[in-house]
Amino acid sequence: VDDFRKYIADIKDKLFKYQTEKRSKTYLALNENPYPFPEKLIEEVYKLIDPYKIPTYYDSPDEELLNLLLEYINSDKLSVKNLSIGNGADEIIYYLLLMFKEMKVTIFPPTYSCYKLFAKDIGSKVISIPLKEEKIPINEIENLLNVDSIVFIPNPNNPTGHFFEDEEIEFLLNTGALVIIDEAYYEFGKRSYIDWIDEYKNLVVIRTFSKAFSLAAQRIGYLVANEDLIDAYNRIRLPFNVDYVSQLFARVALKNLEFFRKRIEEIINEREKMKKELMSLGYKISNSQGNFVFMYLDTDSKEVLTREFEKKKIAIRKFSEGLRITIGTPKQNEMVLRIFMEVKKNENSKN
Ligand code: PMP
Repeated sequence: VDDFRKYIADIKDKLFKYQTEKRSKTYLALNENPYPFPEKLIEEVYKLIDPYKIPTYYDSPDEELLNLLLEYINSDKLSVKNLSIGNGADEIIYYLLLMFKEMKVTIFPPTYSCYKLFAKDIGSKVISIPLKEEKIPINEIENLLNVDSIVFIPNPNNPTGHFFEDEEIEFLLNTGALVIIDEAYYEFGKRSYIDWIDEYKNLVVIRTFSKAFSLAAQRIGYLVANEDLIDAYNRIRLPFNVDYVSQLFARVALKNLEFFRKRIEEIINEREKMKKELMSLGYKISNSQGNFVFMYLDTDSKEVLTREFEKKKIAIRKFSEGLRITIGTPKQNEMVLRIFMEVKKNENSKN
């Protein structure tokens, strides 16, 4: 007979463990913010903590956070009924897949790996359509997408960091598919589709506090969509999914936007500098609008570079198409650039 062990064996057989690069001092593999959450703001969070609330089940989301989020998304057509939160954007992705588990999940690699990973957990059918020169191959998929499809699209894309064009997003929306635009890196490129939600009932936008607000450990993300979808999301998700203190962290972040905006600008400047330098070295890089850069590489140069990064104990992310490197502190970025310069110098001296 099949007891629980069969299911365990099945899971081990079919599902990958989510794995990340080993932690190292210079860790540029996960697109984290290189700067700490400031101590002064931690003190603000501490002052807000009501000890009597710790033993209680706390609303997720609470009203204050909803109102601050509404102000932050800055859309006159939407209300708090268009918003909810998750334990990181990842949890939101998981719940959306659960809500629409009968639908075909469509992704466009290279893309964020968790869409497929989570879809497999849930047992949904996944269709992968590779991008062509960073574009959605619209002509090839006209008959593939329909009201039965749920499409995930990071914008800016992860790992390349490029933006999709309005026409591509419009095409997806007009197929009738449910389109999830993942704006995890919104603050580093500042282009959003939240304003389209009023017009398109089949559009969902996801965002996170993990990147721009230095809060990855606190696990807090949010989604914006039409009221009905949000109402259904709130029925699917676990009660109290984002804890009290994490919500306070998010509130304090939103009350100190000027501080974070300055930091974001610094990261953007470093990214642009890095793109320029890599381009002048002759690398094929994409026009990243995230807190990372991506370069397309053939297998040989990818291996050479990977070895150099390993030697210097700098963790970066390897893809079949190339390498993705998170923008770190100016000092870290300097180290990264030096590796590229040395590798190029060696290449040139061989030729
Ligand atoms: N979406 C994308 C495109 C991401 O790159 C990430 C983080 N790597 C996430 C979602 C998950 O973010 P969170 O930390 O909020 O779960």
